[in-house]
Amino acid sequence: MNGQKILLHSCCAPCSAAVLEWLIRNGYETVLFYYNPNIYPQEEYEKRKNELTKYAAKKRIKVIDGDYNYNRWKQTVEGFENEPERGARCLRCFKMRLNKTAELANTLGISLFATTLSSSRWKDLNRIDEAGSEAAMKYAGLTFLNKNWRKDGLQQRRNDLIKENNFYNQQYCGCEYSTRVLRDAGKAVII
Ligand code: SF4
Repeated sequence: MNGQKILLHSCCAPCSAAVLEWLIRNGYETVLFYYNPNIYPQEEYEKRKNELTKYAAKKRIKVIDGDYNYNRWKQTVEGFENEPERGARCLRCFKMRLNKTAELANTLGISLFATTLSSSRWKDLNRIDEAGSEAAMKYAGLTFLNKNWRKDGLQQRRNDLIKENNFYNQQYCGCEYSTRVLRDAGKAVII
């Protein structure tokens, strides 16, 4: 048991389950933060949130519910609507979510935070690291845990847990621009 507290920004249940399991196994006292104002439409946001809160309740993990303000998120990425996924729009999106997570960690007196975003093989790890490290630097004593959640068998464990729990597993990243992949490729899976 290392007993260290960590605030884990969570984007959805499929991306969180294996990460959460790893943190618990390694003795972290974990609090989840669901903050994803990027998700569109709101029904989809609620669906992903409910799936996560149901799973967290099963694991007896506390979830803090962030604000949903899609208009504010849209302003944040204004001018970058046509960027491809993994591009400059996504970096802004990561920064918005991780800045808020760092702010909350600091308010709660938790000195470590991480994000489940980096468990998706469709996301750019360097950009997530940039956003997380930059957010951590805003507060004295705060650290961003930049672990690659796809390594050490976690990718396989993620897939197993999705099946085991029969999670709702979304077919696009989250924002309205990311639904383009569904239109263009029909059955592309972006998680
Ligand atoms: S594609 Fe995903 S990460 Fe990129 S801006 Fe949209 S919701 Fe954010």
